[in-house]
Amino acid sequence: MTCYLNGEFKPIEEACVSVLDRGFIFGDGVYEVIPVYSRHPFRLDEHLKRLQHSLDGARLANPYAAGQWHDLIHRLIDANPWSDQSVYLQLTRGVAKRDHAFPPGIPPTVFMMTNELVPPGEALKRTGVAAVTAVDNRWARCDLKATSLLPNVLLRQLAVDAGAVETVLLREGFLTEGAASNIFLVRAGAIVAPPKGHLMLPGITYDVVLELARENEIPCEIREISEFEVRTAEELWLTSSTREVLPITRLDGQPVGAGRPGPMFARMNAHYQAYKNLVMRAPKAS
Ligand code: PMP
Repeated sequence: MTCYLNGEFKPIEEACVSVLDRGFIFGDGVYEVIPVYSRHPFRLDEHLKRLQHSLDGARLANPYAAGQWHDLIHRLIDANPWSDQSVYLQLTRGVAKRDHAFPPGIPPTVFMMTNELVPPGEALKRTGVAAVTAVDNRWARCDLKATSLLPNVLLRQLAVDAGAVETVLLREGFLTEGAASNIFLVRAGAIVAPPKGHLMLPGITYDVVLELARENEIPCEIREISEFEVRTAEELWLTSSTREVLPITRLDGQPVGAGRPGPMFARMNAHYQAYKNLVMRAPKAS
């Protein structure tokens, strides 16, 4: 696998970062994950915009203009064998003697790698997945895609320990998101999603789902969602760049709605797959 590190493409085994890197020492960095279908990056400009938001929040300078990111990402995709990929990129505040204060005048560490992307199969979409709930005990800047993910790692592990795939997070009795995804509900024939803010990551897939809902005249509501509404939803979905839209059919061991993927999921999944196909057939951006 070929990766990118600080200006060079090289085999991942040969890529090395100092133990003094602030990403290693403090988790002082930000990242993005970009799905790639048939070698076409999906919503690249939106991912780069969110990267800029995370960089601004972390007070890190962006070392590359959008055109340079496009070029580097396309070169990384072309240097690797898979047609569908998930590109991971991260920037840290660089290498310096350990001190919480920002080190002056050092370049960031820029790293990118890619893996094969295997979207969820039809079998999983027919059964849906299990999730558990937990109290969202993360910090109050969950809108930043920061590499310091210990809280998310611990929360996600609760799901793994329970034989489930995701942890649905509740803060002061209201839905925020999943440990590594955004969460949608269906109630009374409408899609319901929590509003963006500092308490959740502004998901790229979240935006796609809402756009597709609007284009197809599916009613949707963006508003605060109580724990009661989560537990009595007709349908519950998780969304993320690598898992697309997936129905959650069991929550804390109880069936969600009828306990199987609902009709609104089938509709949204069809729209999502059609949209993906359009992106794949589009002429490749330079
Ligand atoms: N929230 C969190 C905490 C995430 O880690 C992710 C992505 N893995 C998402 C939401 C979904 O974001 P996206 O649709 O951009 O992948």
